[in-house]
Amino acid sequence: MTIVPEDPDTSVTPASRSVPRRHILGGLAAAGALAGTMPAPAASKRGWDVIVVGAGVFGAWTAWNLQRRGQKVLLVDAWGAAHARSSSGGETRLIRTEYAANALYTRWAWQSLAEWHALAQRHDSPIFQEVGALYFYPRETTKIEESIALQRSLGIPIEKLTKAQMARRWPQIDFDGLEVGVMQPTMGALMARRSVQTLVEEFVAAGGSFRAFAIDAPRSESASLTAVTGTGGETLHARQFIFACGPWLPKLFPDVVGGRIVPTRQEVFYFAPEAGDGRFAAPHMPAWVDAGDPDLHYGFPDIEFRGFKIALDGHGPKYDPDGADRRITDQGLADVRAYLARRFPALAKRPLAASEVCQYENSDNGHLLVDRHPRWSNCWIAGGGSGHGFKHGPALGRHLCDLVLGTGKPEPDFSLAAHKVHG
Ligand SMILES: Cc1cc2nc3c(=O)[nH]c(=O)nc-3n(C[C@H](O)[C@H](O)[C@H](O)COP(=O)(O)OP(=O)(O)OC[C@H]3O[C@@H](n4cnc5c(N)ncnc54)[C@H](O)[C@@H]3O)c2cc1C
Repeated sequence: MTIVPEDPDTSVTPASRSVPRRHILGGLAAAGALAGTMPAPAASKRGWDVIVVGAGVFGAWTAWNLQRRGQKVLLVDAWGAAHARSSSGGETRLIRTEYAANALYTRWAWQSLAEWHALAQRHDSPIFQEVGALYFYPRETTKIEESIALQRSLGIPIEKLTKAQMARRWPQIDFDGLEVGVMQPTMGALMARRSVQTLVEEFVAAGGSFRAFAIDAPRSESASLTAVTGTGGETLHARQFIFACGPWLPKLFPDVVGGRIVPTRQEVFYFAPEAGDGRFAAPHMPAWVDAGDPDLHYGFPDIEFRGFKIALDGHGPKYDPDGADRRITDQGLADVRAYLARRFPALAKRPLAASEVCQYENSDNGHLLVDRHPRWSNCWIAGGGSGHGFKHGPALGRHLCDLVLGTGKPEPDFSLAAHKVHG
């Protein structure tokens, strides 16, 4: 399919659009760097231009953009790019432009989709799977109409469906209590871990540096930060610093971020359909969001034989990302089976094939947090993905790169001032 980006990325040089084969092979060396098995990269005499801390989706796209703009960038992560406990380390993440008529996120998701497609194409890798995204709603609202109008104005393919149309198309879903569907045929699933790790390999192959390195909470008595220190005592110098540490941000910046980001425990379930039952895999099943459900269940078709994925967008209990227990609860499993019995009855008694426990990094109002540190002028903080941030990685990376290089304007909704400490 053809994606028409609303805003072609002028910051990316044509050469960077296609990675030559030798660079991809160079990616094998990068894989060694990602695993921390290569010698630590050295800074030039004047240190790094920028150190990016955190190789989740936000840090990876930011480092990638800065490197493309000629910066000497070191990307570090305590455990590795998109590792299993990071918020970016899951199997799949939904990309959709259905955003309750929020113009910024709708535009960012649409622009980002083009960048995800480009990454997938450069690596000939199934990083994005166009399974479509279906929202179902209990009734017509003006917000739905506004959202559809906004998306159509951007040229985003979208279909509005009645309950009868949905029931004909997806007879394996019980649409009881629902009236309206919004289908986005060009949206779908981003392969989360794979996409971030591919991007970081590309960043390294193109001359960026990656290092497995855990940073202590930064300290400085002056108006800027000159260096960060690793937990092992080694110091790294740079002109600018970006902290894209997801759910760990409150630990690194207890005074500045603190309760502005609250990680919550989120359980994810994969169910095995019956052998030979293709109704729960693409093209027969899209990714979906049940907007009529108070807990906002959502899910994905069976992708790469992992199973039919289902999770709750409703926030779980507060959670420490270093917490020891990442097993799903019996109650969570029972609740999700009860939901399946209502909406996807053929799956309600099927075996649980796999599960994950991840954490959202919630801001109080769901907006991303992207701002300069209030005391250190060369230090930036990015996070607050709040269960919807992954898709925006490319747009956020470009936005933050522009801020750091002085070529962009801050987004008021993303500022520290706009984010309250959770009550
Ligand atoms: C279950 C679940 C489902 C989701 N579904 C969707 C979805 O469908 N669509 C969507 O768009 N979004 C979704 N999200 C949200 C999205 O995945 C997150 O918002 C996004 O991945 C956050 O990325 P990040 O880079 O901010 O954080 P992370 O991915 O957590 O990365 C932060 C990194 O910082 C590193 N770090 C932390 N402290 C230090 C330190 N001191 N030194 C060095 N490194 C450090 C960590 O090791 C980590 O790798 C979902 C999230 C979850 C948990």
